[in-house]
Order: sequence, then structure tokens, then C-alpha cells
Amino acid sequence: MKLYAKSTIREIKDKHNFKLSKSLGQNFLTDKNIIDKIIEAADITETDLVIEIGPGIGVLTAEAAQRAGRVVALEIDQNLIPILKETLALYGNVQVVNADVLKTDLNEIIKGVQAENAELTGVKIIGNLPYYITTPIIMKILEEGTAADSITVMMQKEVADRIKSPPGGKTYGAISVAVQYYCTVTDVAKVPRQVFIPEPKVDSAVLRLDIRTEKSVEIEDERLFFACVKAGFGQRRKTLLNSLTGVCGIDKEETRGLLEVANIDPIRRAETLSIEEFAALANGLFRILREKQ
Ligand code: SAM
Repeated sequence: MKLYAKSTIREIKDKHNFKLSKSLGQNFLTDKNIIDKIIEAADITETDLVIEIGPGIGVLTAEAAQRAGRVVALEIDQNLIPILKETLALYGNVQVVNADVLKTDLNEIIKGVQAENAELTGVKIIGNLPYYITTPIIMKILEEGTAADSITVMMQKEVADRIKSPPGGKTYGAISVAVQYYCTVTDVAKVPRQVFIPEPKVDSAVLRLDIRTEKSVEIEDERLFFACVKAGFGQRRKTLLNSLTGVCGIDKEETRGLLEVANIDPIRRAETLSIEEFAALANGLFRILREKQ
């Protein structure tokens, strides 16, 4: 059975009286080439535990199960659970969990599986993400220090453009800095809207994010780094002198001094700063705050 075929999806819907939910971001993939691209880019081997976010009817899950040691698939929609039981019946190494990924402790799942399967040394996260929560899902995985090697996921093209953007352009923002701080980003594929059922209003793209084992910059206090990023992009049209004044209580003169020490022109804007320059600001701020204590 070609699980990804539009006719199969229709049959499954009819048989189970299943209605696709727009509010859960249910746009199912119907193109084997794209499924293969995601699975190949994720580079799954039999020593990997794969965590899939939002399996839908299981098109990616079935492919991942043929390559991975174990697959844990997290699906929020309980109406899909009996369907997945059927579509994945062939695969003894898949566990479907009816859960909201945003409320799930992924490290607990990883620890639990690895405790029973010591050979599963790799952890790969995959998914065709529900677009309404793409950024929260990615940031949760990164901020919680999830013990995964990589995240290979489909998302709305505009979000992918922002995540991979270099400094200097309109697409460069807080999400670009945050994801590139935690990961190296690789473009996998552009995906036209026509390959989904139902067809979304936007095109998509697949990115692979390799979580860095060592950060790209040295930062004294990550909270100060993200405070600078947030303040800078929160008012992105303001000069840095203005947007950073007030961060952690520093006044205008302290901000001027901070920018001078970090060797950054006070009339520049956040969208021109590299990650290294944000790090220099955060470390300068760390010293100012320490001296004030
Ligand atoms: N992987 C399937 C495919 O490619 O055809 C389905 C992808 S669909 C874009 C997103 C899936 O994520 C849906 O099955 C939806 O029910 C599920 N989902 C939405 N919000 C979720 C959440 N918070 N936690 C887990 N799954 C979620």
C-alpha cells in the first residue's frame, strides 16, 4: 500500500471517518520524493532512536522505521492513534505516543529508550511540523538542551528563510541568531504547496539543523546574550544605542560604553550584527553588571 498516495489518504479518512484538522496544522505529505529527501537528509541508521513530531497517518514514520533502531512518534490528535496502529502494524520498533510535543519532556523519552537499548547511541528528530507552532517546537528542543544530534524538519518556507538567514537582510532576526547559535543549518529541499493534502496557502522547505556539541561563540551568561538579541530585534528599526538602552537596567551612557568596548558603531541596527558581535555585547554587559554589584 502506498501510504502517501492521495487515494490511500482518502480511503483512510473514509474508513475511520477522520476529518483533517486545520487548527492542528494537518497538511499531509503525498510525494514520495519529498518523503525520501527528508529521510535521507536525516541520515538514519540502525543505531539511531528517531523521534518524530506529528506523524499524521505515518508516511515518514514508516520510512524511518525501516532504517532506525527505534522510532517514537508524538501525535497530539487522538483520532489518528487507531489509524497509526493500522498503518504502522508492520513495524515492531515504533511507539506512537498520544501527546503534545510542547508539553513532553523529550529528554525523559530519550533516557528511557536508551536505558533499555544501549546500542541506540544516536538521536535524530524528524517531522513535517505543524506550521502554527514551528518556532516554539524548534526553540523548545534547543533551549531544553535535548540530547539529540540533529533536527530534520519541514516548515513554512518563510520560517526556513529566517532560520538560515545571514546578517544584513530583512529575514535576519532573533530566530536566525538563536538557531544558528545552537546549530549549523543545512538547506535540504524546497517543497511546493501542491504536494500536500489539503494544499496549504504557503510553500515549504526542509532544513537540517545539526546541534552543536560546542557553541560557536563563548558567552559568559546565555540569558544576557538572548536579552541583547531580544532587545535589538524587538525594536529593529532603532539604532542599537536606543534599542539596547534599558536592557538589564543599563542607561544610555552605559550602553554607549558597552557598544564602544564591543567595537560596534552605536548607529548600527540589530539586523547587521553577527552572532559574534551579539556575544561581544553580552559579555560586555556581563562585566558592566558585575562591576555594578
Ligand atoms: N507527518 C505527517 C505527514 O507528513 O503527512 C503529518 C504532518 S502535519 C503537517 C502535522 C502533524 O502534527 C499532524 O498530524 C498534527 O495532528 C500533528 N500535531 C499538531 N500539533 C501537535 C503537537 N502540539 N504535538 C504533536 N503533534 C502535533
